Amino acid sequence: MAQKINYKIKKSARAKSVRLSVSARGEVVVTAPRLVPKYFAERLVEQKRDWILRQLQKMQTKRPQNADPRLFNYSREQYEKYREKAREFCAKRVAYWATQMDLDYNRIAIKNMKTRWGSCSIKKNLNFNYKIIFLKPEQADYLIVHELAHLRQMNHSPAFWKIVEEYVPNYKKNRIELNKIF
Ligand SMILES: [Zn+2]
Repeated sequence: MAQKINYKIKKSARAKSVRLSVSARGEVVVTAPRLVPKYFAERLVEQKRDWILRQLQKMQTKRPQNADPRLFNYSREQYEKYREKAREFCAKRVAYWATQMDLDYNRIAIKNMKTRWGSCSIKKNLNFNYKIIFLKPEQADYLIVHELAHLRQMNHSPAFWKIVEEYVPNYKKNRIELNKIF
């Protein structure tokens, strides 16, 4: 029997035709104008079955070999299970790196982000993806140094990367690895 393909229908007032996409997290989405009947979506997914499976396959092989499988679980339950642990971890590591870098920050928030590792605001608030705890220690440190460096440089200019490099000399390797995850 052929593999069943799960997909989501997104009704859009602006869509002019039925469109198919596979998101970075491996979700198959059919975007359709509001009045298009459901069997249209079903038929499209069936017609494009081979293409969809190829996209999903590609996504799997792009994943780094020894990455923690929890990095690719997007469930709410997993987030709730690990949120506190991530909060404790970030509190400790951010405090450590902020001292090293002689920077101060305001607040740390843990978020369940699908395609982002972290962010930093003008108000000096730092956000981290809870999945930081599933990374290798040096990858997590790179991520924290990256966001802290934004407190000095709110961009990705050469000056910004110079700050990062000062504290994480092999930052490029970590950056590439993280980009492969999402
Ligand atoms: Zn950045």
